[in-house]
Amino acid sequence: MPINPAAPPTLHAFFGGTFDPIHYGHLRPVEALAKEVGLNQVTLLPNHVPPHRPQPEANAQQRLKMVALAIAENPLFAVDDRELHRTSPSYTIDTLETIRKERGASLPLAFIIGQDSLLTLHKWHRWQALLDVCHLLVLARPGYSQQMDTPELQQWLEQHRVTDATQLSLRPEGAIYLADTPLLDVSATEIRERRHQGISCDDLLPRAVQRYIELQGLYR
Ligand code: ATP
Repeated sequence: MPINPAAPPTLHAFFGGTFDPIHYGHLRPVEALAKEVGLNQVTLLPNHVPPHRPQPEANAQQRLKMVALAIAENPLFAVDDRELHRTSPSYTIDTLETIRKERGASLPLAFIIGQDSLLTLHKWHRWQALLDVCHLLVLARPGYSQQMDTPELQQWLEQHRVTDATQLSLRPEGAIYLADTPLLDVSATEIRERRHQGISCDDLLPRAVQRYIELQGLYR
């Protein structure tokens, strides 16, 4: 197929998380988002959790393995394990700045977060710099306010918000897009608690991940 020189470059998105464990509340909304905004690839970035923070129940290698199992048969997804190899605290902004340098200044890049993360984004290290390196794509999540906590934060959101997804491919960074993705009331906390109580987690996460959790004796 001939390459159209006028076609905008494809938007590439990254999705960070603790993934303790990865579940359908991560996967399904992102699959819908990919259709909604035209993403060919989403790279999952499992977090390094610094020692002073509450630790995940699964270790880094187990979290990475669960991500790998969850995406094995879905070419939309890739995984980048760079944060797990770090020994020092890794902030999302540092990782995204590194990725921006690797990919060049002009490629449209996006970072995906859930609505709950948008509401607490102002507590992230150098949060305002995020829009200097990428767009933010926000997944709808049930049970979380649509409004930011303060008028200043709401104003920040409105200033950067775009409602037309085609805008995201026309510039490299700086926009916030609130996606109309399906609401899935699933959290890793709920899955861990269900496991602790011996309640089934069928339908909440992929079978291969459930099997791995069983085999490793996780979240008992
Ligand atoms: P925990 O319950 O342990 O806090 P979690 O289920 O929220 O975990 P994380 O790995 O912390 O999962 O989340 C990674 C990202 O995925 C965050 O930006 C979060 O907002 C988003 N996310 C998680 N679950 C959902 C969901 N059900 N719908 C939409 N976004 C979600």
